[in-house]
Amino acid sequence: MSRVIFHLDMDAFYASVEQRDNPALRGKAVIVGSPPTQRGVVCAASYEARKFGVRSAMPSVTAGRLCPKGVFVRPRMTAYRDESREIMRIVAESNAIVEQMSVDEAYIDFSDVIRAQVQSEDSDELLYAAVPVARDLKERIAFERGLSASIGIAPNKLLAKIASDFKKPNGLTLITERDKVEFLRPMPIRAIHGVGKVTEQELNRVGIQSVGDLQDYPGDLRAIVGSFGPRLKQFAFGDDDRALELGDDVKSISSEETFLHDTADRKLLRKCLQEQADEISAKLRRRQLGAHTVQVKVRYSDFTTLTRQISTEEPLVESADLYRLGCFLLAREKLVRRPLRLLGLGVSSLREPSWRQLPLL
Ligand SMILES: [Mg+2]
Repeated sequence: MSRVIFHLDMDAFYASVEQRDNPALRGKAVIVGSPPTQRGVVCAASYEARKFGVRSAMPSVTAGRLCPKGVFVRPRMTAYRDESREIMRIVAESNAIVEQMSVDEAYIDFSDVIRAQVQSEDSDELLYAAVPVARDLKERIAFERGLSASIGIAPNKLLAKIASDFKKPNGLTLITERDKVEFLRPMPIRAIHGVGKVTEQELNRVGIQSVGDLQDYPGDLRAIVGSFGPRLKQFAFGDDDRALELGDDVKSISSEETFLHDTADRKLLRKCLQEQADEISAKLRRRQLGAHTVQVKVRYSDFTTLTRQISTEEPLVESADLYRLGCFLLAREKLVRRPLRLLGLGVSSLREPSWRQLPLL
């Protein structure tokens, strides 16, 4: 049965909230995170700052160097979460089925809503009828919340996400059944859900660079990417039958170590954190996920247990990023003032990373 799926993605969400709430920041390169004079990290950056190469999880010092005119603003997580709730309330009023992916991102299944309007089973007819609905949703978010969103409309999740990434900010992109194969041809293979760095390298090795190359590949992809092969071939032609996942089960990945003897040895703790970051990063890669939130956990000799966390707008996968944020939290909260019985690192708010956010080779 034909489906109408939207992927809604707010544009540079954290920084846009800051620019909305403080007109002096509009048009400026806004960097949400610790100031560059402190040993901190970037949580998010406005489009103006991204032009200079500033990205989430980068040390603030580096961001300051890349973008000397950048205005550093402390993150206000509560404000972003409240804003997220307001936006999702507007989305919910449309009576569609919503799978919220993160504070600023959701898949929305408009199939029944549109079908009731159009009374057609022609997939592309349904998709075209959804364009004014998407426009209205964007305009309402802009009018009521003063923020801009990009929306992709497509017959499935794979294409809807590619469509919302296609033109940003303030984009509205439709990929129809008729056009999907041609639309995908020039895209880099990284744009396909599930193609990470390793898969990309393996495909490059046999000369596959674009999705078009993938479509044209005459051999069996299983020889290159194993059991993902048949799925990958389907994705390359824009076919995807994944359903929206409902229910709010909190997914997280963590790793912790209880020490034989309580310790405050920085070198040992750093090594431990590094191993945990490697382990979590490998798990994220395997599941093709990125994490918005990084958490550290410490336990002292008297069994007092503390956890501290930090969130970034873009999902993180790299071990180095997870490690850096872990070290940052330990230092910022002065958690190693006393010897530790246990040290743990964890990630949550998991979702699939956008290919544009994945680090380049
Ligand atoms: Mg976004």
